[in-house]
Amino acid sequence: MQNDNKTIIEINNVSKFFGDKTALDHINLSIRKGEFVTILGPSGCGKTTLLRLIAGFQTASEGNICISGKEITQTPPHRRPVNTVFQKYALFPHLNVYDNIAFGLKLKKMPKQDMTRKVKAALKMVGMTDYEYRDVDSLSGGQQQRVAIARAIVNEPEVLLLDEPLAALDLKMRKDMQMELKEMHKRLGITFVYVTHDQEEALTLSDTIVVMSEGKIQQIGTPTDIYNEPINAFVADFIGESNILNGTMVKDKLVRFCGQEFECVDEGFGENAPVDVVIRPEDLYIFPVSDRAQLRGVVQSCIFKGVHYEMAVMCADYEIIVQDYHAFEVGSEVGLLVKPFDIHIMKKERTCNVF
Ligand code: ATP
Repeated sequence: MQNDNKTIIEINNVSKFFGDKTALDHINLSIRKGEFVTILGPSGCGKTTLLRLIAGFQTASEGNICISGKEITQTPPHRRPVNTVFQKYALFPHLNVYDNIAFGLKLKKMPKQDMTRKVKAALKMVGMTDYEYRDVDSLSGGQQQRVAIARAIVNEPEVLLLDEPLAALDLKMRKDMQMELKEMHKRLGITFVYVTHDQEEALTLSDTIVVMSEGKIQQIGTPTDIYNEPINAFVADFIGESNILNGTMVKDKLVRFCGQEFECVDEGFGENAPVDVVIRPEDLYIFPVSDRAQLRGVVQSCIFKGVHYEMAVMCADYEIIVQDYHAFEVGSEVGLLVKPFDIHIMKKERTCNVF
């Protein structure tokens, strides 16, 4: 991460309404200079709207936005020190790579020599040095996206906004481009604000992840914080796979679920409080049933996932998902164990059992 801990973007109490629809609900977010921040959430949660407000394509209904200490809530897009890369590369098909990248500089009537220098530097930055006279139509999706990024960075914005820029690429290309983007971010040293609904992409790329749902921020944190310490059942469910079970606190550090009592590390919920019990599939140990089992169940399904197997185990009335490097036969009786610190207790938000 290249930053000096200075805040570059400050979003203060921002809401956005479309008629009676609340797309953003009192958003507060502070982004540091040089940070790679990802806004992550399911479709319709307001990610793109938030990005568009930072870009200036839409204006906030309430609240204000500052960039580099200046309030820009009403400033038009071209006067903001930001540029946007979209999912659809939005390149001009009738222009070659050079003219696509130089387009904005020509509008500004930049002298040709300076323009050429800047275009070449931008192409170098995205690893496309020898491509300036190619038609954009003759490029692969990944190459077109690199040209779109070159066009967005050629006028040296302070912030690059990226709206699902890899969504149109196939899986292999997307993985390659993720690594390239990470490298590019390091080289450029500018702030990236990245929108995606892909949690794996967010975990791979980001310094900080902002998890959103229904127009609200649910949690802000590093990828490891968000994965290991999800603040509520929504985040736990959205980031990686989780078993979310109905439970009741017996007392501090003792919780009951699936008809058994388990030691845990959480306290302060109050005796008999209904809670969500969140356990990651990889935190459960599965073995042929024996006396040391905390839970006993029967394997319902067993799917090979490439590196590990994923088993659904019926324990009491709950189906619990477990990962292991060994396969257990469907119909076999198994035991499960989980360590106290791998049992995450959360305030109850919903009553269903979600996987
Ligand atoms: P996706 O991942 O599907 O693009 P998103 O998280 O980016 O979703 P937004 O596009 O920000 O979500 O939309 C948030 C909510 O605001 C949605 O319910 C959407 O239908 C609504 N919305 C967005 N733009 C408009 C608009 N111009 N007019 C009316 N409603 C809108």
